[in-house]
Amino acid sequence: MKKAMFYEKIDNGSVQCLLCPHGCKLAPDSTGRCRARKNLAGDLYSLNYERLASVALDPIEKKPLRHFHPGKRILSVGTFGCNFKCSYCQNWSISQGDITTQVVKSSELADLAMKYVERGSIGVAYTYNEPSIWYEYVLESAELVRERGLVNVLVTNGFINPEPLTRLLPYVDAMNIDVKAFNEKFYSKYCKGSLDIVKKTVEQAVDNCHVEITTLIIPGLNDSTSEIGELAKWLSSLNPDIALHLTRFYPSYLMTDIPPTPDARIAAVKECAELYLRHVY
Ligand code: SF4
Repeated sequence: MKKAMFYEKIDNGSVQCLLCPHGCKLAPDSTGRCRARKNLAGDLYSLNYERLASVALDPIEKKPLRHFHPGKRILSVGTFGCNFKCSYCQNWSISQGDITTQVVKSSELADLAMKYVERGSIGVAYTYNEPSIWYEYVLESAELVRERGLVNVLVTNGFINPEPLTRLLPYVDAMNIDVKAFNEKFYSKYCKGSLDIVKKTVEQAVDNCHVEITTLIIPGLNDSTSEIGELAKWLSSLNPDIALHLTRFYPSYLMTDIPPTPDARIAAVKECAELYLRHVY
């Protein structure tokens, strides 16, 4: 546990977390929506600090990143918690569930990253669950990883306030940001989040590091050619070389009543996105 960054004290021992746009107001002993930050005796603490739930050496293409050190691998780590509640989450056991974790200090993580260089690793990816709600550990680790001449990658939902993002970005080399749909209704109904915030994160990120985007195509919910066309058009207005990854849905977590995305649907939305972007996968 570590005292959190980005919060303010309010009345009666309560605090308001300012890390993400939810802005949770927490009475003593209560925990934020992400399950990762708690008010203890009038101060906010990060509960997942130094706690790893998943570690693997992954191909960089699995993040997915196709235009950032292709062919290399990256040490990939995650913890528990998430500030979204996607009803179709594919990693729900760590984002929403309770899971065993192992303590790994940031210096140990940076040393581990160095160890895997000889196996083709280029650094550390903070992934699997939402890394922005692991903020203090990610920032601390990213600084150490960078000091060792390696890179940092964030795989994120982009739901973070501008100030903490600005503080972290100098240590981030690449991001894959989920744009889960290109309509607010989807974000509020299925993720308990906001597209508008995510768009602002993408806009801030593309000015500071390598960015690729992922959209999971769910039959009947976000798979219209017009919606994906609008997404691609907006991305193209930022940079037509931004890579867009369109991935297939399969039934998971609470959304088990929708079949996997047909290949033909992926092909149709891909064709539409390619009207605006040079790299659609
Ligand atoms: S980071 Fe967590 S505690 Fe802070 S505002 Fe977001 S959901 Fe709430």
